[in-house]
Amino acid sequence: MGLLNRYAETLSELGSFVLPAPLKDMRVGLFNTTLANELALPEHLLQPQTMLDWLHSPVTPLTQQAFAQKYGGHQFGQWNPELGDGRGLLLAEVIDSNAQPHDLHLKGAGPTPYSRHADGRAVLRSTLREYIGAEALHYLGIPSSRSLCLFTSEDTVYRERPETGAMMIRTAPSHIRFGHFEYYFYASQKDKLQRLLDFTIEHHFAECKAATNPYAALLGAVVTRTARLVALWQTHGFVHGVMNTDNMSIHGITFDYGPFAFLDNYEPGAVFNHSDHQGRYAFNQQPGIALWNLNALAHAFSGHCSVDEIKAALSTFEPTFISQYQHLMLSRMGIETNEKEQSLAVMQSWLQILETNNLDYTYCFRQLALADINKAQCPFHDIFVSQENRFKQVTLVDQEKTDAWWESYRKLRLAREEETELLSLNPAVIPRTHLLQQAIELAEKGDFSLSESLLEATSTPYDARWDTHPFSKPPSSSTHTSLSCSS
Ligand code: AMP
Ligand code: MG
Ligand code: MG
Repeated sequence: MGLLNRYAETLSELGSFVLPAPLKDMRVGLFNTTLANELALPEHLLQPQTMLDWLHSPVTPLTQQAFAQKYGGHQFGQWNPELGDGRGLLLAEVIDSNAQPHDLHLKGAGPTPYSRHADGRAVLRSTLREYIGAEALHYLGIPSSRSLCLFTSEDTVYRERPETGAMMIRTAPSHIRFGHFEYYFYASQKDKLQRLLDFTIEHHFAECKAATNPYAALLGAVVTRTARLVALWQTHGFVHGVMNTDNMSIHGITFDYGPFAFLDNYEPGAVFNHSDHQGRYAFNQQPGIALWNLNALAHAFSGHCSVDEIKAALSTFEPTFISQYQHLMLSRMGIETNEKEQSLAVMQSWLQILETNNLDYTYCFRQLALADINKAQCPFHDIFVSQENRFKQVTLVDQEKTDAWWESYRKLRLAREEETELLSLNPAVIPRTHLLQQAIELAEKGDFSLSESLLEATSTPYDARWDTHPFSKPPSSSTHTSLSCSS
């Protein structure tokens, strides 16, 4: 099937047609052949060089309908109508063999009418973080935009320091954000809001069409998907970092990667975005913020849904989130039992042990999955000792408490009828900040080999071969990094 761009065709007044402005000496840095094949891309697009050539000419299937979407958003709780694709362009849409649509979106494409005073560019650092991060989440079973292609260049782009300019092409079912609906609602552009809603249901939520009120059904579907997504984030220690409503996808996928990070040490209040002084987007704030954002979205639906319909849709968030989170956490630990209260208490004590002792979240879950449950002696003395070497400021581990915990945990695991295999639920490898940083430093010198290795490891995150590889280890120092939003 060829390339479409139904958003640009049907809703051309909801944005602007803009040509990409290539960077100097662009080269292909990374290309995702697996994804290209999954999407059943037209044959010439299986060659990243063709894509690159097409970006340089105004009359190709990737440029002739390139489109910047207009949207707004609540940023750190404040409404901002002045947003939109300021450096991104919707190039085209491809329909896969299961009839599912995927946007091809170019990030770092150059200025658009929505760039305000910014340069329309992206840097290699942030595109590479997004490229690897999004693929890693996908292979962890966390819905996400995907990464198709990364182009590097000889251009310098100025952020807090001079950096290498880059572009990436990502895919997503659509790029419709909460902020799209909010913008047309607050601008009182009723006709455009109506057409956007109908377009969204027609092309992306067709299952809502049969409902008494399809708009209420759409809102309900977004609430459910978002609750499930955030439950997955919380289970895996993922921090999005900038959950503004313009960065929230209506598909309930992880979207618009910025200062994201996976927790190293288990620190529930961890904040990674260095502009987030209030800790609004801290790890443990994410479920509440997701609901806040859904409330903002629901407000934009208030002309299409009754108050009762909105309340009904929003009220499903909490039970959906809680049941998903508990299910995911207890399965990871192998203690999803009939004694739910007891299992939850054991899970809480485990998290408490990780927190008080500054232990690495992902690493400790993996060790739990590897531990021999038949041994009465707690296997964690060794981990704690080795972790102690790693983390200088480690506090004294309460051995007795940990031994007692192991005993109660074992009881629950052993009481279960069948023992489940935990290794496939607890990854050995995640895209840790320090690994991404090493990959960036090499890529800035034109060497993508570490990026490729990280992509290979994070696409097989449960594989036992990584347990002996440095990728599976926590960083050698636990100094908490914060990440820049300007990218
Ligand atoms: P973000 O913080 O990346 O989610 O972006 C927030 C808004 O700023 C969006 O409207 C972006 O399109 C815009 N934006 C971010 N960086 C740039 C840039 N370098 N040039 C133009 N617009 C940008
Ligand atoms: Mg954004
Ligand atoms: Mg601590």
